[in-house]
Amino acid sequence: MYLITRSYHFSAAHMLVGHDKCGRMHGHNYRLDVTVGTGKLDPAKKRYWVMDFGDLDKIVKKIIKPFDHRFIETEAGELAQDSKWVLAQPDSREDVYYVSIPESTAEALAEWFAWKIDSSMIKKGTQLQVKEVTVWETVNGRATWTPQTG
Ligand SMILES: [Zn+2]
Repeated sequence: MYLITRSYHFSAAHMLVGHDKCGRMHGHNYRLDVTVGTGKLDPAKKRYWVMDFGDLDKIVKKIIKPFDHRFIETEAGELAQDSKWVLAQPDSREDVYYVSIPESTAEALAEWFAWKIDSSMIKKGTQLQVKEVTVWETVNGRATWTPQTG
């Protein structure tokens, strides 16, 4: 198996409804590590590589762009829980990015990013798969998603 990993960064706000500390709106300078792999390099591509880093960048940067400097809202309905924010920012829906996940934990985000990146790669016709996605909330706190085996 050949694996390549690329790191990306974005800043976003979120909250975890019902959590003592994380239930207050706060932000992270997120880091996203994306690992893509293949069992066999394709000599027809005339390069001894898994994928051009630039091609991976094009896919991932398009996916993370709407998160940057926005609030991450999920199926948990965070903003409806925070009436102070809704009242203060009635016309600021453009500051919010909705993601269809149960809540904005690093685990749920990692799985969603993996699915999104995989979907984009399928559309582009590559045979590559996302092997690992790690979402770093802080320099010493991260969650990793990998495809389930067995
Ligand atoms: Zn947080």
